[in-house]
Amino acid sequence: MNLPTVVLACSRCPNDTRNPIIDVHGGLCRLCQQFDHHYNPADLVREREFVQDLRGTGAGRHDAMVGVSGGKDSTAALAQVIELGFTPLAFTLDTGYYPAHIVPRARAAGRQAGRGPRNHRPSAARAA
Ligand SMILES: [Zn+2]
Repeated sequence: MNLPTVVLACSRCPNDTRNPIIDVHGGLCRLCQQFDHHYNPADLVREREFVQDLRGTGAGRHDAMVGVSGGKDSTAALAQVIELGFTPLAFTLDTGYYPAHIVPRARAAGRQAGRGPRNHRPSAARAA
C-alpha cells in the first residue's frame, strides 16, 4: 500500500488522506462537503417531530430502543432518550466479537438507568 507523502486533514472531522477513499479540498473532506451540500435543517425538524410522536406509544412498556455498550456515548444517548420522556428498552447486540468487559458494562449502564438491558446474541454469532 502506498501512503501519501503529504497528509491533508479535514478541518472539521477526523478524516485525512491516509484513508484512500478520502480527499480534502478547501480544508474539508468529501464527506463534510457532501453533508453541507445535502443538509437541510427542515428535515431534522420533521424527523424530530416524528420521533417525539412515538413517546408513550409502547402500550405501557417501551416506546424506544437504545443500543448500549456502557461507554460514554451510548450511556449519554440512553440518558438523553429518558430525559426526552421516552421509556426505552436498553439492549446490547452481542455479535460475539465484543471484548469481555462490554456486556457487563452495558448491563450496568442499563441497570443504573432502570432500563434493562437485554442482551441479544444472534444465532449466527453463537455458532461462530
Ligand atoms: Zn470532514
